[in-house]
Amino acid sequence: MQQPVNEPTFRQSVDVMFNRAVALMDLPPGLEQKIRVCNATYTVRFGVRLRGKIETFTGYRSVHSEHMEPVKGGIRFALSVNQDEVEALAALMTYKCALVEAPFGGSKGGLCVNPRDYDDHEMELITRRFAYELIKRDLIHPAQNVPAPDMGTGEREMAWIADQYQRMNTTDINGRACVTGKPLNNGGIHGRVEATGRGVQYALREFFRESADMEAAGMKGSLDGKRVIVQGLGNVGYHAAKFLSEDDGALITGIIEHDGALYSDTGLDVEAVRAWILGHGGVKDYPDASHTAEGAKVLEHDCDILIPAALEGVINLENAERIKAPLIIEAANGPITAGADEVLNAKGTVIIPDMYANAGGVTVSYFEWVKNLSHIRFGRMQRRQEEARHELIVRELERLDRHLGDAWSMTPNFKQKYLRGADELELVRSGLDDTMRIAYQSMREVWHGRSDVSDLRTAAYLVAIDRVASSYRAKGL
Ligand code: NAD
Repeated sequence: MQQPVNEPTFRQSVDVMFNRAVALMDLPPGLEQKIRVCNATYTVRFGVRLRGKIETFTGYRSVHSEHMEPVKGGIRFALSVNQDEVEALAALMTYKCALVEAPFGGSKGGLCVNPRDYDDHEMELITRRFAYELIKRDLIHPAQNVPAPDMGTGEREMAWIADQYQRMNTTDINGRACVTGKPLNNGGIHGRVEATGRGVQYALREFFRESADMEAAGMKGSLDGKRVIVQGLGNVGYHAAKFLSEDDGALITGIIEHDGALYSDTGLDVEAVRAWILGHGGVKDYPDASHTAEGAKVLEHDCDILIPAALEGVINLENAERIKAPLIIEAANGPITAGADEVLNAKGTVIIPDMYANAGGVTVSYFEWVKNLSHIRFGRMQRRQEEARHELIVRELERLDRHLGDAWSMTPNFKQKYLRGADELELVRSGLDDTMRIAYQSMREVWHGRSDVSDLRTAAYLVAIDRVASSYRAKGL
């Protein structure tokens, strides 16, 4: 998406938003600058022999803040990757981790490559070589720098990276914790693949629990029947759309992809569209909805909730005024430029900011990292013990049931549901839900509690920067 030329870059946009928040804080001299700047960015150019010739690739790993270690942040594979973008994303990771209380500093990586141009074997060679370059400089390391998936990467790439690290560090017992988002049979955790989309769902549910927040967006009721437009039906967008439609009754009226957009007033079948994309490479020619080649125009359609879940800068000074959605939840990183943010705030649009909205991924990555370091699956020790204690209560209730007859009886399925101890997936969901609720409340408290704060993004920055600042102060910096 082409941004208007007079707009700041992604990194400058993050800085503008950061500056807006620190202007409302009373930080010790110099600390503001220390927090804002990116500590280091490593650029690597390496060659891989492919199809009989050596191809040179450019990659980055940026470390924004090491106030906590390891630092954490995804690795993106896309042709558009550049240093500015990686640094902006690394900064967002610092604030995101602070906001959801994941004990990490912020980092991000990227490789300029279009994964669609290469077959599986070639992608493995490229990924392993990039990983090798980062591992040998400790830019991938369980105690120092732990990547995760981002645009263009997923479980497969994370498995290659973990294996590459373990080959180079054969005696590191914590080797698997060098990266998160791995497949389950390779040190991964239940619920990581869908974690970011699930987090978007939990964030919206928390928003809809607060009537004052709904009122701020001129909305009422629940998620049921709300019309949602999603941009990007990749990992994050697909899971968010799927969960919101299946569990909460939301209507997905628009899906915008790289080759245009689908629209249906009565709601799109998310699974069917996803299957079509996987089979045909895009949404074009999907039979059960109208298609428009100018996908980005659908961002401006009438809807209740807009979920940009693809790229940065898609809502900018050029189209912000025409965006009709009263509520935008930034599932992608940086989809709204600093200028568009001001336009939308002035219009009264409520924006649930990226720093919070897509933090489900890093939250469950944190759980995976802890699981890898503890070398045991969550729930393994307590599940059966929990079931045994529940069994005790159920037996007692059954005794009362027999004794009191019709006057008292258990609901059907109660026994079956109550007796089952939580497995790893349930624990992960519970931990994610808890995290998203607590983080929302911490932002909301500032949003409603301070007369000089009128939007959730500024509130989120205030909470996050304050935590990072406390961490630096505690260290004596
Ligand atoms: P992905 O590669 O799985 O999906 C991106 C989707 O966007 C793809 O379906 C792609 O076809 C589509 N797309 C590309 N160009 C488009 C365009 N011009 N218009 C509309 N759609 C377009 O990536 P993802 O992992 O879902 O990441 C999406 C966003 O979410 C990124 O901003 C990423 O940084 C952010 N994010 C991802 C995670 C995660 O866990 N994967 C976590 C936090 C934030």
